[in-house]
Amino acid sequence: MRTLDSTHDPALKSWVDSANRPDGDFPIQNLPFAVFRRTGTGEPFRCGVAIGEQVLDLAALAALHPLEGRAQQALSVCAQPALNGLMALGREAWDALRQELSRVLRAGAQHADRVAKALVPQPGVEFALPARIGDYTDFYTSIHHATAVGRQFRPDQPLLPNYKWMPIAYHGRASSIGVSGQPVRRPCGQLKPQGAAQPKLAPTERLDYELEVGVFIGTGNPAGEPIAIEQAEEHVFGLCLLNDWSARDVQAWEYQPLGPFLGKNFATTVSPWVVTLEALAPFRLPWSRPHADPQPLPYLDGRELRSAGAVDLELTVWLETARMRAQGTGAEQLSRCNFRDSYWSIAQMVAHHSVNGCNLQPGDLFGSGTQSGPQSSEAGSLLELTAGGRQPFGLADGETRTFLADGDRVILKGRCARLGFAPIGFGEAAGIVLPANGAGRC
Ligand code: CA
Repeated sequence: MRTLDSTHDPALKSWVDSANRPDGDFPIQNLPFAVFRRTGTGEPFRCGVAIGEQVLDLAALAALHPLEGRAQQALSVCAQPALNGLMALGREAWDALRQELSRVLRAGAQHADRVAKALVPQPGVEFALPARIGDYTDFYTSIHHATAVGRQFRPDQPLLPNYKWMPIAYHGRASSIGVSGQPVRRPCGQLKPQGAAQPKLAPTERLDYELEVGVFIGTGNPAGEPIAIEQAEEHVFGLCLLNDWSARDVQAWEYQPLGPFLGKNFATTVSPWVVTLEALAPFRLPWSRPHADPQPLPYLDGRELRSAGAVDLELTVWLETARMRAQGTGAEQLSRCNFRDSYWSIAQMVAHHSVNGCNLQPGDLFGSGTQSGPQSSEAGSLLELTAGGRQPFGLADGETRTFLADGDRVILKGRCARLGFAPIGFGEAAGIVLPANGAGRC
């Protein structure tokens, strides 16, 4: 369990002025990691930390201003083009690096002039995936999402009997995960419209987003050795935003009996910034289970889970259509929910994933599953917001939507705020929908 320390002090300011704006995502209390280079330079990608509107280039910092002890060991793997090296070092190293980065970036720090030479303005950088993702698992942790979607398919039994006993998941595809900014081509697939005698191959007519939280595994476990729930968060490096793009018509026709496949594996978008569990320490909440529901089996229950297993992370979805972009009106917010409402926690996902001895590895990614809140306006997908496509909704500029149109840009955002602490943000995970290949002829 991460505890509060001086790096969370809300009074802490940075000598990087843009980090001190109250509405910014990246104050000195955040310090999220990404993999970046200056746009269009062909430079090697390397690890960086966000501070205000700058990126602190950790490869450059190692040369300009070596840190102390364990932090220097952590810094030395940050010239790599992925965070896997840092993730593999483990919690003590992550903590030591955070302490030192906080120290050199705070107002009044010695040698700020030297460290300043390692800053790169964020508008001038491009990002790579934060990690080499060996395996990607997508969970289904929001009971509000599972119930709303289940009701569309099985009105009498929206939730299947296993839902309240284990964090349900499937193994996803890592190769098509991209970082924010990557365009998403409307996929072709087998569709079988209601009443049709046979399926056809065509571009999806029901392209959707899913608002999810990504969980990056730090240290792994040897095959055959489960991770106990009390140690589960020690293995987690941090969180990001994740959009699990979904072709609902492809999914509906293919998903039985083995689950999601081509309706999901064409694209997944993550935010470039990974917010560490250290940074999230002020925003943890007790996890609880309604008394009327089954309480978790012992391997999915624990003291730390009950005291601080949930994360108070507000999530929003924004849509910018081609017309909004042309008219410069800006994106429109579609929904808002909170990760605190998740039925299953991060630690429960880790403990359940490894309970059979499955080995997790540094850089593995979990999706939380679509996060939807208890209110219908808090839905994390269009499938829910439009009742399966039956209820189109209007946008402020007069357009309507059921599912995504070509040219639509979907933006996910996340922010943590609590009285007495500096609010922190996740940046964004954004992607624009491109028309299907071949003028729609699959
Ligand atoms: Ca999903």
